[in-house]
Amino acid sequence: MGSIIDAREKLVSSLERFRYIKSNNVKKAFLTVDRSNFVPESLKNEAYLDTPLPIGWGQTISAPSMIAIMLEVSELSKGLKILEIGTGSGYNAALLAELCGEENVISIERIPEVFTFGKENLERARYKVRIILGDGTKGYEEEAPYDRIIVTAAAPQIPNSWKSQIKEKGMIIAPVGTERYYQELLVLRKKDGNFETKKHGGCVFVPLVGENGWKE
Ligand code: SAM
Repeated sequence: MGSIIDAREKLVSSLERFRYIKSNNVKKAFLTVDRSNFVPESLKNEAYLDTPLPIGWGQTISAPSMIAIMLEVSELSKGLKILEIGTGSGYNAALLAELCGEENVISIERIPEVFTFGKENLERARYKVRIILGDGTKGYEEEAPYDRIIVTAAAPQIPNSWKSQIKEKGMIIAPVGTERYYQELLVLRKKDGNFETKKHGGCVFVPLVGENGWKE
């Protein structure tokens, strides 16, 4: 147990040194959530490497540095209502629960087996985040509007459904670009009903598949 905590602290120090983690609240969340609870049994020893890991069904848990970049640009605080698109392992949903409160986080996943994997990981780690099985390219109208929509799969563009489900002054954070090889992390902020877009560098995510995303 001690060694897992040591490994986590070492990773967080390195993420801080390289300025992926910049704020105390993101640091605290990374120190609290045990990434080894969210990777397959056979990869537990690799949980604290700064690398994406396979979680099965062709999907991945993102690299901690990539997650830290996304959480930092999202400007998160307690009470913000969050829609995460792409639950995957549930790790990012757990970090979001630490940052915004578990009652404020909804996460949507399209692959039934991954949905179950993520849901069980979150339950085991005792996070009461709401997980929905469905197509996140349509957002999740039932709980809209959101302060943040955080997308953890590569989108071809930003669908209108996300734009209409965001509150005024809210933000959409999403990797947008090609299906497999390269995307740019975009942050769209809603101001007087319009969106200001900022680019935050290159990234590589698995494709966002669905009605307003890539085709199967
Ligand atoms: N946030 C995850 C974590 O912490 O492990 C990592 C997500 S993984 C990089 C991307 C996930 O997005 C995959 O599990 C994939 O099945 C899911 N996905 C792809 N298209 C989707 C869609 N239209 N709606 C919801 N989830 C989708």
